[in-house]
Amino acid sequence: MKKLILILTFFTVANAIGQVKHPLPIIDMHLHAIPVADFGPPPLKIGAPFKYWGPNDPQNDFGEVYFNEQKSGAWDKRSITSALTDDQLERETIAMLRKRNIYGVLSGSMERVRKWKTAEPKHIINAVYWNFRHVKSEKLDADSLRRLFKTGEFKVFSEVAIQYEGIVASDSIFEPYLKVAEDLDIPMGIHVGPGPPGAPFQGASKYRARMHSPLVLEEALIRHPKLRLYAMHAGWPMIDDMIAMLYTYPQLYVDLGVIDYIIPKKEFYAYLKRLVGAGFEKRIMYGSDQMIWPKAMGVSIDNINNAPFLSKSEKRDILFNNAARFLRLTDKQIKEMQ
Ligand SMILES: [Zn+2]
Repeated sequence: MKKLILILTFFTVANAIGQVKHPLPIIDMHLHAIPVADFGPPPLKIGAPFKYWGPNDPQNDFGEVYFNEQKSGAWDKRSITSALTDDQLERETIAMLRKRNIYGVLSGSMERVRKWKTAEPKHIINAVYWNFRHVKSEKLDADSLRRLFKTGEFKVFSEVAIQYEGIVASDSIFEPYLKVAEDLDIPMGIHVGPGPPGAPFQGASKYRARMHSPLVLEEALIRHPKLRLYAMHAGWPMIDDMIAMLYTYPQLYVDLGVIDYIIPKKEFYAYLKRLVGAGFEKRIMYGSDQMIWPKAMGVSIDNINNAPFLSKSEKRDILFNNAARFLRLTDKQIKEMQ
């Protein structure tokens, strides 16, 4: 009996160690490598989640109001605090990837993505962050993007953040870029959904609320039937439009970036429950939209794992299987991630 207990204890401890050492793999379809000062001098807080979205008396500059919120965390139910330096941000994000066995689709400037990839080759999947500004700043027009993707160094074309420029994917000006992704069979993720609150008053003067709707992707999908596209942020909060799109376009996927940690949990759960309840559990992918807050990854994964309405297999689909299918990972690649 004593021996049996000893053996059982051994297995329990070994199992526990095993779980700590080798958690099941997770794919984060929405991870960023950006300068830590991109939103203003750090440290900055973000609600994880927010308790409420603060009101603004229009006599005040909302950019300033929101900056003060990010300093004080006054609107947050619980705050997480940004890294202080670029090095710390890189170190802590990579530490999180390793600790929780996350494979991150990482986008930022090419230089920064390359730097992080060198520091952590295994857990990073290179992606191209893009908007029309990058035609100049990164010299990434349709021709140079085509050449870049052909090298195989960058695997995913996301985040495409043209919503901030008042442009949607079905606009003719974006057509050459859709063609590059379709021709070369590069998975593409387009931002449809929330930016920061009050985005038009925080530098994105052409951002519009109506562009949260994933219906803006419709003509692009019709013109490019072979395109592998995912709607980032799952088009929050336009749930009916999102469901109509997923139903009409069986090739379309979504990620849960940012909504899985910043919006009040009741709303995130209601949104996710509606998507799953409508039958789309096979096309929802985990994404953190980690920007300068490395803890966002842990919070968002825990929120999915703790969702009371999801089964164990639905959680695995969202955290890994759906993205593995969308990215067409091979059995060998999947095995190497375990
Ligand atoms: Zn986004």
